[in-house]
Amino acid sequence: MELNNDEIRRYSRHLILPEVGLAGQKKIKAASVLCIGTGGLGSPIQMYLAAAGIGKIGVVDFDVVDYSNLQRQILHTDADVGRPKTESARETIKGINPNCEVVIHNTRISSENALDLIRPYDIVVDGTDNFPTRYLTNDACVLLKKPNVYGSIFRFEGQASVFAPHLGGPCYRCLYPEPPPPGMVPSCAEGGVLGVLPGIIGCIQATEILKLAIGKGTSLVGRLVLFDALKMKFSELKLRRDPACPVCGEHPTIKELIDYEQFCGIEPPSKENENPDEVTVQEMKRALDDPKLGIKVIDVREPFEYEIARIEGVPLLPMSQFEKRFTELDPNQQYYLFCKVGARSDQAAAFLRERGFKYAKNVKGGIDAWSEEIDRSVPRY
Ligand SMILES: [Zn+2]
Repeated sequence: MELNNDEIRRYSRHLILPEVGLAGQKKIKAASVLCIGTGGLGSPIQMYLAAAGIGKIGVVDFDVVDYSNLQRQILHTDADVGRPKTESARETIKGINPNCEVVIHNTRISSENALDLIRPYDIVVDGTDNFPTRYLTNDACVLLKKPNVYGSIFRFEGQASVFAPHLGGPCYRCLYPEPPPPGMVPSCAEGGVLGVLPGIIGCIQATEILKLAIGKGTSLVGRLVLFDALKMKFSELKLRRDPACPVCGEHPTIKELIDYEQFCGIEPPSKENENPDEVTVQEMKRALDDPKLGIKVIDVREPFEYEIARIEGVPLLPMSQFEKRFTELDPNQQYYLFCKVGARSDQAAAFLRERGFKYAKNVKGGIDAWSEEIDRSVPRY
């Protein structure tokens, strides 16, 4: 691994750091990193790694760029909306540093492909936003003995660590043995996220990757950094490896990848359509268009969301007041309940059914699906 004169000039601020130097920069150039997710965390990670001179960056994502991504996913621009995120990412990375080899994997990482995707890379960085993928990435990295540079964000708070049992630290399962019940932890799409937060957490992840590449400093192995943007405070937890961990413990029971959707209690998409407690936005439109059907539609979002986007004529009964005010509803009436994407209204409908309401159904996809499939004049947020 040699550096040419252009590279020596490009990386001069690294080369004059004694901790990096020519030897360290060559290690950075020799390193390969697989970035799972090309969103909020993936953006700063990939941009800084490319700028720093990482030789090969693999990019895994199946999604296309949406307007709602641009508030934080700085890899992508306004002109990229509708394009695959991996392609947009490759263009941005190449624009920053043409020396960086970018391998795009325009696919959803799964138990079937994860080991093959990860195997060729030195370091894996987790930039995903859902639990099944997080456990999948963890288990695949433990099985392949690859450091897993972890970060996650929600609203104003984030956390980061490096999971590497082969380097003496714990894995994600040692920290979180069980996934939260489905619907209990809202996603950023449901709960929101401050746009700059993934920038801060992603930069911590990128820093750890560069330290692993050059083998300098004290890594986050065995430590969890917690960040609160509202308080502007960092704190730290010591993490210990759990000897009983099912994947990295003394007697592992997970020796190959499992079904992570099932592990996290998420129904596979084919069964979702058969859920008798759910209706589609098309069925909701029929209910609104034809009062003779006798179905009432209720919006369970909060007033500030109603301010942003609403479906005319649909009353609001916010989730935050639901326990107090559900008695205003008639247990013999048919109800369709919707929220932003369907998670809170699913809970609200279940809440009513538990209290004897016979016909409380959740509108799958919420007002977001309504805007996408029924009425595009309703803003998506
Ligand atoms: Zn473990």
